[in-house]
Amino acid sequence: MNLRIGHGYDIHRLEAGRPLFLGCVEIPFDRGLLGHSDGDVAAHALADALLGAAGFGDLGRHFPESDPTTRGMSGTRLLEETSRKIQAAGFAIVHADVTIVAEAPRLSPHRDAMLAAITTALGVGALDSKVLGLKARTNEGLDAIGEGRAIAAYAVVLLRGRGALG
Ligand code: MG
Repeated sequence: MNLRIGHGYDIHRLEAGRPLFLGCVEIPFDRGLLGHSDGDVAAHALADALLGAAGFGDLGRHFPESDPTTRGMSGTRLLEETSRKIQAAGFAIVHADVTIVAEAPRLSPHRDAMLAAITTALGVGALDSKVLGLKARTNEGLDAIGEGRAIAAYAVVLLRGRGALG
């Protein structure tokens, strides 16, 4: 079996007056994530892990800020395009696990919506909570995340490649 593991990480600053996009859904909050894109750290970490597992390099290489089409890009579109790239190369997602680190807002009420939106964006309808882990935790009040100035996300992904070399 040709299995590939990938890891991704992202962090964005929180700023007042912006919509908060996390896990491909908009979450009611008084602050949102600052970025060239919509700032969806969960989508970015997951896309980074997918590209890493496929050996395709980092997110910036595929979606450079110098490309005007990436301006305001949604996490949904980012995952759609990343998933298309890895599937075109013969990879299939075996399992993915995403951890969001945010002091606020509480994310558990939005978990199911995020799971559904992420799996839809990946185009893997068979994925459910058994093969896509999605967890949220706080940073125990520590550092920029704990002080509510940023939100971060980590992701690990397992891909199955086609053939001996994938
Ligand atoms: Mg990012």
